[in-house]
Amino acid sequence: MKRRLVILGCSGSIGQNAIRVAETLSDFVQVTGLAVKSSWRSALEAAIRLGAKHVGVEDEVAARQCAAEAPTGIQIHGGRQGLRELALLEEADLLLCAVVGMAGFEPVMAAVEQGRTVALATKEVLVGGGALVTAACRRSGARLLPVDSEHSAIFQCLAGGDRNEVRKLILTASGGPFTGRPEVDFDQVGCAEALCHPRWKMGRKITIDSATLMNKGLELIEACWLFEVPIERIEVVIHPESIVHSLVEFVDGSLLAHLGPTDMRLAIQYALTWPHRKPAAVTPLQIGKLGALHFQEPDERRFPCLKLAREAAQTGGSMPAVMSAANEIAVQLFLEDAIPFSAIWAIIEAVMARHATIADPDVGAILAADRWAREEAMRTGKSWKTARRSRRS
Ligand code: MG
Repeated sequence: MKRRLVILGCSGSIGQNAIRVAETLSDFVQVTGLAVKSSWRSALEAAIRLGAKHVGVEDEVAARQCAAEAPTGIQIHGGRQGLRELALLEEADLLLCAVVGMAGFEPVMAAVEQGRTVALATKEVLVGGGALVTAACRRSGARLLPVDSEHSAIFQCLAGGDRNEVRKLILTASGGPFTGRPEVDFDQVGCAEALCHPRWKMGRKITIDSATLMNKGLELIEACWLFEVPIERIEVVIHPESIVHSLVEFVDGSLLAHLGPTDMRLAIQYALTWPHRKPAAVTPLQIGKLGALHFQEPDERRFPCLKLAREAAQTGGSMPAVMSAANEIAVQLFLEDAIPFSAIWAIIEAVMARHATIADPDVGAILAADRWAREEAMRTGKSWKTARRSRRS
């Protein structure tokens, strides 16, 4: 029987690649539901092409427009409730969550509470709500499958030994566009430059996260929850070629690494086919033609986001949710050209410093901390905006 798949966030880069993978694996995967925030035309078109019977549209107005144009046989689920309905669809075996940011939290929580298998691409869900999501998984027996290439790599390397034989996890980072360019002034960097990622073609938010290295900070926290390893035993190493997707070091000093082409379809496909492997429509690596691979330690002074992420993880409770929410707003302000690149981490640090951590937050407290951090980040960002405008005039 085919694996029946629901994709939340089907218009983003992970969602689009997941659709391509599902099309390649059409005798193994059947897409039964697709959800978007507002771009309903692409979702409806994909649903018709793939034979999916359910489309979720978070934006209520867009959902009504979509319902008016949907052919009979396709059911439209509107609003946040619609995403929840898609996450809990009876005729599905696997939920892929690839929405941007904390918007994925509630549908993922709903799915794992019901014991569903979730392929998780939205790292903010575990960063903000990792304790709650993993506790729900333990209660219900739900399983989380990593979709992020680094975590998929670690997941695969961990199969090479016993869990108590693991010494540390090593996450590789491409370093983004600025690691090898020490001359770049972070007060002057423009959007276009920061969006120019040397290796991966991804959405705008994650591309800026890669440039600040906050993407790796979020991945550190995500790895803690996925693999139940404390943050002190997770390292980051810069690897500009992005060929080694991550490594596991065992107690005897052996390192197992996962290598593959720089194509996110590979990690997505493994989450969809796990525990099996299927031929993929990805050109394999020609190892003999690679030449040298480089590794170096990250510069945490130049890229303070890594340090902020470690601090947030060590503080725990509501702090990682606050850090991640402040980052979402700071990145949005940078993309609107309202703040300089260097203000991204300054805003995150300021918001974290003002947060009174809640040690053991429930769902309501996590969502409240998330809202508070967004407002604080916006307020802090506005003062930059005003200062910037007065400097320009
Ligand atoms: Mg990644």
